[in-house]
Amino acid sequence: MAVRDNLQFIKEQIPSQVKLVAVSKFHPVAALREAYDAGQRIFGESRVQELLSKVDQLPSEVEWHFIGHLQTNKVKNIVPVVSMIHAVDSERLLLEIDNCARKVNRTIRCLLQIHIAQEETKFGFSFQDCKELLTKTDLKKLTNVNIVGLMGMATLTDDVSVIAKEFRSLKLFKDELKSEFFAADSSFCELSMGMSDDYKVAIAEGSTYVRIGSTIFGMREY
Ligand SMILES: *Cc1c(COP(=O)(O)O)cnc(C)c1O
Repeated sequence: MAVRDNLQFIKEQIPSQVKLVAVSKFHPVAALREAYDAGQRIFGESRVQELLSKVDQLPSEVEWHFIGHLQTNKVKNIVPVVSMIHAVDSERLLLEIDNCARKVNRTIRCLLQIHIAQEETKFGFSFQDCKELLTKTDLKKLTNVNIVGLMGMATLTDDVSVIAKEFRSLKLFKDELKSEFFAADSSFCELSMGMSDDYKVAIAEGSTYVRIGSTIFGMREY
């Protein structure tokens, strides 16, 4: 019953307008089923093969979110089953999602991943590159992707002020893009930020999706 209790705990911590993505990567289907039985419907995975094998084993009511780095050549495999892709980090990837989604007559909600952390290793656009992409892209031509907001990961640190500052910068950037590029588009409103260690800070800074794994499912085995 641990998963059920953990979910209950998390739900008590987050306001009702913040959506919870249960990050189930590296955890067995039985754990996902336990979360499903406790009412959880949004699951986040970060590996294509693992996602695909789990999709078949859970009810079709599940909303699958791809949260990890996605390779362009694997887009076609997940587009038929995911409803949201959190980490779009290149123009090529965005166009490929649009292309593949058109072929299967779906529209995929996408978040542009922005690099806000100090670490070099995390993927994502700089603020400037993101703006350049939106400036040169004719968004109306992207018929099968819906850019609904931004995603970012904060620096791995105990210094809450650093984390808060990074999340705040993402929120401000989203507001800026909203007025500059998406003023007439009410769907551009999402901010995917916050994981097990920093979701409270993220929520205080305006997160609308938190992606929480280990606090629900326990430690992952790498
Ligand atoms: C694994 C992962 C999470 C969840 O991390 P926890 O610390 O276990 O909550 C969230 N977002 C992304 C992109 C991840 O890869």
